Amino acid sequence: MLDFSRLTWPEIKDTIPRLDALLLPLGSIEQHGFHLPVNNDYYTARELAGIIQKKGEEEGLTLAVSFSLPVGCSHHHMAFPGTVSLSEETFSQVLGEILESYNQHGIRRVFIVNGHGGNAPGIEKALIKAREDGTWDMLEPFHYWDTFKEKGSEILESGHYFHACEGETSLALALKQRVLMEKAVNSLEENADLKRLNILEMEDIFVPPFHHLTKSGVIGNSKAADKEKGEKLIEIITSEAVKVIKENLVLNGKTAG
Ligand SMILES: [Zn+2]
Repeated sequence: MLDFSRLTWPEIKDTIPRLDALLLPLGSIEQHGFHLPVNNDYYTARELAGIIQKKGEEEGLTLAVSFSLPVGCSHHHMAFPGTVSLSEETFSQVLGEILESYNQHGIRRVFIVNGHGGNAPGIEKALIKAREDGTWDMLEPFHYWDTFKEKGSEILESGHYFHACEGETSLALALKQRVLMEKAVNSLEENADLKRLNILEMEDIFVPPFHHLTKSGVIGNSKAADKEKGEKLIEIITSEAVKVIKENLVLNGKTAG
């Protein structure tokens, strides 16, 4: 995998002129129920970015993966120990300065692989500001769950996706995350109202303080997770990512491959 954080500066300097896009994984440090570690969102974003990088390479693209920003906006999970959160203002400032740094080295195309819904408003804010200088050819946010809004209800037997749920846990299993399946719960069974918090059906992601809604921190049926479902989701996510990057390159007059 072409991973900037493992390269020397001369190697990065040589890569930049032929780079089609830099993949920047963003995550969060927050509770994911009794069964997933707090690093889950950045772990997922980083692993997905690695698969997107390889898939892009197979299709003639030169993509590289940036280090990932592990901390995001997780104020709605703060009642659970181990959660670490930045304010939206700080998060968007940090993201803006990371982008500015890459821009100074001549990188003009960044594809943001976002692993956490709560980061979306801060990303939007940072991108609006970054685009003001007009130097970017691609500054694309990619919220991976948006790619399976249609097919997700066929793949996931709960027909539901929200947090540390069937889908997110299936992804974690397929990506070889540390998963304590024996501690997985079905919080939709405990509280049927939670079914309404469903990313597969919602336009905007509403982020309530989680401890008001769930004891475990899970919103979904994590018990129904398995590796095969995760693999199906990964295929949808990564194919869509490569497609979006290619479309962007064509839009900007750069022919891929
Ligand atoms: Zn998550």
